[in-house]
Amino acid sequence: KPEYAFIGRSNVGKSSLINMLCNHKGLAKTSATPGKTLLINHFIINKEWYLVDLPGYGYARRSKSVQQKLQQMIMSYILQREQLINVFVLIDIRHEPQKIDVEFIDWLGQSNIPFSIVFTKADKLTASKISSNVNSYLEKLKETWEELPPYFVTSSEKCIGRDEILDYIEQINKKL
Ligand code: GDP
Repeated sequence: KPEYAFIGRSNVGKSSLINMLCNHKGLAKTSATPGKTLLINHFIINKEWYLVDLPGYGYARRSKSVQQKLQQMIMSYILQREQLINVFVLIDIRHEPQKIDVEFIDWLGQSNIPFSIVFTKADKLTASKISSNVNSYLEKLKETWEELPPYFVTSSEKCIGRDEILDYIEQINKKL
C-alpha cells in the first residue's frame, strides 16, 4: 500500500496535524514535550494508504550522536521504501526559512524524492502575514529549484487544510 510520510522539526505541530488528518484524537499522541516521537510510526487510513510519522529532526536537546543516528534512520527509510509516494515537510509558518529545513528539502530534491510543504499553525498569523511568509519561503526555494513544490497552509487548531491534503493524496492514489 502507498505510504505518505510526514516530517518536520520538533514542535512544528506534526502530531497535531496527524491527529487532524486521522480525525481521531489520541491516534497520534500530541505532546507539549518537543521531540517525543523517536521511532517511525505507521497509521493505516481507510485501509488504502499509510500515513508515516517520521521522527522530528533538529532537536537541540538530543545529543549529537542520537541526532545523527536519527538522521541516518530517516534518510535510509526515505531512500529505501519503494511504497513511499510523497514526503510532506512541515514548516511552522511563523518562522523565517530555517537552514535545517532548507537543507532537508534540498536533500529530498537532490534525491529525487517527491515532496510537498505543509505550513503549520496558520491560525497564529493574519492572512497577509501568512502570504508574505509563504512567499518568502518560496523565494528561498527558488534560489535552488526551478520548479516549486505543492504546498498547503494548515491549522490543526482551526482544522484548516485537512481536506486539501487528503484530496491531494486521494488524487495521487487514484493514479497509482
Ligand atoms: P510535534 O512535536 O511536531 O508533534 O508538535 P505538536 O503537535 O505536539 O505541537 C507542538 C505545540 O504546538 C503544541 O503546544 C500544540 O498545541 C501547538 N500546535 C500544534 N498545531 C497547532 C496549530 O495549528 N495552531 C496552534 N495555535 N498551535 C498548534
